Parts: sequence; structure tokens; C-alpha cells
Amino acid sequence: MMKIIIPICATILLFGACTSRLSKTEPSEEAAKAEPLMLEFEYMDTTADLKEDFYQYCNGTWLKDNPVPNDKSKFSTFNVVDDRIKKRLRLLLLDVSHDPSEPGSDEQILGDFYTSFMDTIRRNDKGVQPLDESRLFEYALSIDNLEGVINVLGFHHPRGVNSIFNFYIEIDEKDNSRYVPYLSQGGLGLPNKAYYFDTDERSIGIREKYKQHMSNVFELLDLSLSKEEIDRIYAIEENLAKFSRSQEENRDNNAKYNPYSVDQLIEEFPNINWKRYFDKIGLTKKDKIIVQQPEFFASLNKLLVQLPIEDWSLYLQWRVLNEYESALTIAVNEEHFDFYSRVMRGRKKMKEDWERAIVKITRSPISEILGKKFVEVKFSAADKEKVNEMVGYITEIFDARIQDLDWMSDETKSKAKTKLASFARKLGFPDKWKSFKGLEICDSNYLKNLVNLSLFQFNDKLKKLNGKIDKTEWYMPPHMVNAYYNPVLNEIVFPAGIMQNPFFDSQYEDAVNYARMGAVIGHELTHGFDDQGSRYGADGNLENWWTTEDSIQFLNKTQKLIDQYNEFEVLDGVFINGKLTLGENIADLGGLTIAYHAYMKSLEGKKKEVIRGFTNEQRFFLAFGQVWKNTIKEDELITRVKTDYHSPGKYRVNGTLANMPEFFQAFDVEEGAGMRQSPEKIAKIW
Ligand SMILES: [Zn+2]
Repeated sequence: MMKIIIPICATILLFGACTSRLSKTEPSEEAAKAEPLMLEFEYMDTTADLKEDFYQYCNGTWLKDNPVPNDKSKFSTFNVVDDRIKKRLRLLLLDVSHDPSEPGSDEQILGDFYTSFMDTIRRNDKGVQPLDESRLFEYALSIDNLEGVINVLGFHHPRGVNSIFNFYIEIDEKDNSRYVPYLSQGGLGLPNKAYYFDTDERSIGIREKYKQHMSNVFELLDLSLSKEEIDRIYAIEENLAKFSRSQEENRDNNAKYNPYSVDQLIEEFPNINWKRYFDKIGLTKKDKIIVQQPEFFASLNKLLVQLPIEDWSLYLQWRVLNEYESALTIAVNEEHFDFYSRVMRGRKKMKEDWERAIVKITRSPISEILGKKFVEVKFSAADKEKVNEMVGYITEIFDARIQDLDWMSDETKSKAKTKLASFARKLGFPDKWKSFKGLEICDSNYLKNLVNLSLFQFNDKLKKLNGKIDKTEWYMPPHMVNAYYNPVLNEIVFPAGIMQNPFFDSQYEDAVNYARMGAVIGHELTHGFDDQGSRYGADGNLENWWTTEDSIQFLNKTQKLIDQYNEFEVLDGVFINGKLTLGENIADLGGLTIAYHAYMKSLEGKKKEVIRGFTNEQRFFLAFGQVWKNTIKEDELITRVKTDYHSPGKYRVNGTLANMPEFFQAFDVEEGAGMRQSPEKIAKIW
């Protein structure tokens, strides 16, 4: 077993010095000031039975006191941090939008984009003029044959309108020294296939409201369509949905890797004029194209000639409106909110303009400029160093646990350890900032800005296709309260946004930092070994490194998690999808287990303390239970169960802990209790 190095950092010594004062049940005000930050004891509901519902025990009072605000569909720890960060971002945006800056500079781009969003009066006055100028709608309107449809696709796709199918350029999953074009199913206005076919009352209602929404948007733009015309648009989406893979089927990355040459595309899907399409979008390097769902393109190939061209024209018009409706007049924007936020997510009122602007920027290619501004004012190098150390210790614990696994052969273990040792890490913000040279953004035309952003990003990717892989690139901006694992570069990434209280704080006692930031680190590391991540090797390529026997063992173990989560009923008749959430559930269980053992190791040679009646182990689990607290609208919860790869917060806590003997021991949870799976059901994977 590898030797584990334990940190003896200033923080622990400092806290060690003042813990004696904490044992008092009612600390004096002076003593309270010196208390290291710990759990939020005031959020707990100690009347709840922790052995039946630990989540309620950790958070009951907070849950009661924090109903979802009207402008949100969910309120969680993530929102608390995000709201705090947004207030700061707003000031930064006010600065850059008021100060004149050099044309083409990051500041000018960010400031003018913000101004163009905020000037809702001008946007309203302009009406459909920006849409007319973009010619997106006009092209969709004026087609009279199949070639016309292909021309429109070639015009829409680089401009952010994902009509019929998706095209994008990313790292080649089986040869990660290069980029490659991908073709993928797409073209829907509802979140995924299930929305078109589920037979429950709510789903039927959503489909009716979606058609009404289409009709309303056309009407608000003085383009009234008949009910029959709306039905024809909807029928195309329904067909595309029928050919599509379900969201859980689409998690299978091996099944999505189907390399084609242009000749093969032409042979198998001849009704799509591929040469014309690739010419239109400007694709020159096309020796290999990955088709993610060949059966989708085979069915599409037939559908293209079965339906009248007028139907395709109507559909393509709708795709433009659907993509850009929130950028048009105030009335259309409200209609967009009404369907996508009120109906789908139970949100009562729109967020304020400035907040929506930040959401929009954060999801756009220029999010990194905002993130750069953020870390200039709010980032601690000391915090980064401490998190970096935690990643190191947690990785060592993970390595030791792989070595000790009782179900894996030495052969696979050795590969797993090599992979773990090869993880790259990115902390805080990128080493190299993206350049936006050549991007044109003005302060007076929001829709044009959106189209320019799409075009800029599309062309940037086209340029990349001929070059080397950029390993410095980030797929999340630094101010985002989140983290990710990227299997194709075998890297874990933690933006500055998540290295914040209550996820991480150098003033916290270690039980809390390990239970929160530590569990996040463990979670992302475990993604490299979840049901999908485990299919990528140490160098990031999609390739099998498992013996057959070990693969079978792994499948049996993960099946236990699928079965467990399938049984969780989040609302009457609404169950978690164990397959859809499998990767995240594996990562939650592995991540917390590793973080727990890293924390235990860090306590070696130190005196354990009972604080306010809780042992170190108990405080660790309580701190974890608290980080996932959230209140959520029913509509949002149902939408998430159908679309989100993560289980709802309550089950990320209770579902995970019910598999952990470490937890049973910490709180004397006996067999038969709700918070303890029966021995044959327990999943012990990593
Ligand atoms: Zn995850």
C-alpha cells in the first residue's frame, strides 16, 4: 500500500488550539467568535429520526424556513452561493458597460453585450427587425425543394439554430490527439424523447401547452398559423423524437461512436445532400465524421422525402423562433417564460433583467470573460493551494482503496491505478484565457449579438479542426458553482465558484471541508470510474481496459444502485430513473466514501473531539447532509427526474448514506432502519 502523507497545516493547528472552548454547550459570545466554522446547527431538525430520514434531520428547520422564492424553481446551497456571486458579477458588469473601452477588447465585448441585453425598451421597439436582418427566418420561409432544406440547415447550424439534427466539432473520443466533426440527433423543442410519448396526464398536458406556445409565438409576431399548420410542425418533431434515442440510451458513448466517411454518408443517407451541407457550413477537413445515432439519420433520410416541403418550411421557421424567442419583444419573451419556466418548472415570476443577463452570459461563449473579471477580485491563492492539497490526499486514499478492492483482478487494478495517477487537475481558473479577437458585439442589437456569438464559436471550432488539441481549454467559466470530469482529457476541473463557503472555507474545521469540497473532489475523481468514465483509458481514449470477469463484477455491483434508485418515489407515482442517474450515483457513493477515509486519515495522531454532542465522524456526515439541502417546485422536480443525470438532493444524501457502513457505525444505524439498505442490496463499488 502507498504511504499516505497527512497534512499538518496551519489551519488544523489553529483550530486545535481553540477547540477546548467549543465543548461548552452554550459558548459565551467571546468563545463563539473564536469557534471554528462548523455545521449550520440551526438548520437541523433534531426531532426527526435520523435513522429513517437523515436529510430531514440535517436540514429540517432550513427546509421549513426556505420555501422556493417566486423567481426560482429550486432553492439550494448552490443557489445561495450563486446569488452571492451574481451580486458581485453585477457590479463588474456595470463597470464594464459604463466605462468606454477599446473596440474589440474583452471589456468592450462584455460591456456591450450586457447593455444590449438590458436595453429591453429598444429590443421591444425593434420588434422583428433584427430577426429580418439575420435572414434566418426568411431562408426558412422561401424553400421549395429538398435542396432548399439542406441550404437552410447549412445556414442555421453555424448560427445557433439546431434544426433537424446537430453538428458540432469536439475531441475525437478514440483518438484524442485530434478534433473531429460529430453528427447527432436533435431538432426538438421539448427536452427529450420521453416528452413526446409519455402517457401520463401531465405529459399530455405539456404537449398541448407546447403546441399552444408555438401558436402564441407565431401570433405575437403577426405570423398567425392555423391549428392544422401547428400540428404539422409538431408532427415533424414527434417523428424526430421517435427516431431518437432516449436520454438514458444516449449515455452509452461506445454506441455513439460510429465513424463514417463522406462517401458512406452519401450512400446510407442519400436524401441529405452532404456535399452541399458541408460546403455551406465551411467544413473542409472531413476524412472522418462520427455519427452518434445512425438509425436517426436513416429514418430522417426517409422522412425528408415523405413529407411535403411546406411542412419542412413551417418546421424550420419554428426552429428559428424557438431558438431566438427570448431575444425578441417583451411579449414574446414573456410567452417564452410562461411555457419554459412557469409550465415546465413551476417558476412564478421572471428573474430581474440583470440576473437573466448574467445567466445568459454564463451559458454563452463569452462566459470566460466574466469569469476572468470575477477571479481578479474574488479568488484566494491560499484556498487554491489548500484544495490542491486535498485533491492530492484524496487521490492517494483512492489509490489505496483500489489496491484493496476484493472484487477486482490485479491486472485491472494496475490499469485503474495508472489511470488515477494520470488525472490532470485544473483549479480556480484557466492558465490561458480564450481570445475573442474578431468577435463583433454592439450595444444596440441583442439578437445580432447572439447570432455573432454562435458564428464566432462555430468558426473557432472549424479552425481547431485542423490544429492540435488545446488541453488548456475550460468547459465551465471560473465563476460557476460547479465542477466536472472530462473523460477524453482525463481531467478534473474545479472552478473558483465552488471553492466558496459553504462548500469550502479555510476557516472550517476539516470535517466540513472534507465532507463538502472533499466529497466534490471524490465525486469528480470517481466519474473517471463510473459506468461510462470507466470506459476511457488513462490517456483519455475510449478503449476497454477491463478484463471480462472484472467488467461483469462491476456491472453486477452497479446494477444494485440502479435497482435501489428505481425504487425512490420522489412524488406520488414519480420515480427516479436508476439508469439515467447511474453515473452520478456511483460518483456520489465513491466520492463520499473516499472523502470520509481521507478525513479519517487526516485525524491520525490527533485527538478526536466531541463537539455539541457530535463526534468527528458524525459531524462529517452532517456536513455532507447539509450541503445538498434544497426546496423545489413540484414541476421542477418532475422535469428534473426526466432530464437530469443527478438524483434530487434528498436522495443524493439518503440514497448514498444507506450504502455506507461508515455511516451506520457513526450513528448506530441498525439493520432494518430506513437509512440502511439490507446486506444483499448494499452496493460497495469503489
Ligand atoms: Zn457528477
